[in-house]
Amino acid sequence: MQKSATLAINERSAALRAQGVDVIGLGLGQSPFPVPPSVAEALRRNAHQKAYLPVEGLPELRTAIAGYLRRTEGIEADPGGVIVGPGTKELMFLLQLAFEADLVLPAPSWVSYAPQARINQRQVCWLPTRDRDGLRVTPDSLDALCREEPDRSRLLILNYPGNPTGTAYSSTQLEDIAAVARRHGVIVLSDEIYSGLNFTGEHVSIARFYPEGTIISNGLSKWCGAGGWRVGAFVFPRELEWLEATIAAAASETFSAVSAPIQYAAVVAFDGNDEIDDYLSRSRRLLRALMTTSARRLRDAGATVPEPQGGFYLLPRFHADCPRFRQGRPDTAADLCESILTDTGVAILPGSDFGLAPEQLLVRLAAVDFDGEAALAGFDELAEDTVPDEAFLRTYCARTMTGIDRLCDWIEDREQD
Ligand code: PLP
Repeated sequence: MQKSATLAINERSAALRAQGVDVIGLGLGQSPFPVPPSVAEALRRNAHQKAYLPVEGLPELRTAIAGYLRRTEGIEADPGGVIVGPGTKELMFLLQLAFEADLVLPAPSWVSYAPQARINQRQVCWLPTRDRDGLRVTPDSLDALCREEPDRSRLLILNYPGNPTGTAYSSTQLEDIAAVARRHGVIVLSDEIYSGLNFTGEHVSIARFYPEGTIISNGLSKWCGAGGWRVGAFVFPRELEWLEATIAAAASETFSAVSAPIQYAAVVAFDGNDEIDDYLSRSRRLLRALMTTSARRLRDAGATVPEPQGGFYLLPRFHADCPRFRQGRPDTAADLCESILTDTGVAILPGSDFGLAPEQLLVRLAAVDFDGEAALAGFDELAEDTVPDEAFLRTYCARTMTGIDRLCDWIEDREQD
């Protein structure tokens, strides 16, 4: 086993920086934004909370999470179906431990799902995707897989807005996938960790169409800027209570309960308030401008890029006629990333870390190398609902924009600044 690819690129970038290289960090997908002040203040207020909390989580937090789903998604969730964990990643691991099933993943998918399956000795089935579907999974590919061996138990993980694609699914697409999942008894883990960063401000969960077979996963790491706080939750429907109970049993023998002060502070985040609404609105407006501008620039340089719909990722595909490849075409996406890091100082990740074939020249960018706090404050100068223009992006997201410039220059084989 190797260290998780995203953490490894962070360490490699840090080592290069220590040697004096100006590395632009578009590798690790960490939120650039601060924790909203009201949530950080709640953590300070609750520093004295020292007791172990119930394994499934602080009752007020479980209620707040159910309320959050009602408010943001129109989903009726029972607080009793909520389990809080030290990040959703740990809960995903325990789910795969508890549920003996094949793991079904769209290629590409987030880096850690498949390694977790391997540790748990579960089989991984990759569903192919196509550029023309925006690298989304289709109901037909899920149906074809399930028909091959109808009797196997399966867990499908869907993540939208997606890491690494930056795309989301429409209600119709989700409804169609839900129908196939229901027909074949596939359990869906709906990874909604980027739901608050959907550029439209609206997020539709597949649980609306398949409530009895969907587990919702969400947490504070992305839309609340609190990845290092390590708090996330799963929400189970009544039909899957047995699975929640098994995970709670495993949790009681491993992490016991999430840190108490963090859980009290998380109540404020999930309850929401005007300040958090404004914070989210600014985050989304900034990311929409930054991601769509970056995608357009990369497309102009000749890459194929799915239209971003949320979060902070892009997954450009490089083509054989890329001018830079006149100097030699890399054999793999990993070689491509290595050349880009050496030639431009821009750290990105190969698509092969996300389940794509090594020779497919797709790379993932996390457009997060900027000071999110300053960028959000920059909106004080903008009229409400104004879309930040390129001058705004160059002021507040300068390093990320420079990273995109360097990448485009590299693709087009122009001199680097
Ligand atoms: N799911 C996706 C798609 C992610 O990108 C991440 C983190 O990068 C996670 C889950 C895990 O988040 P956490 O464990 O911080 O809740």
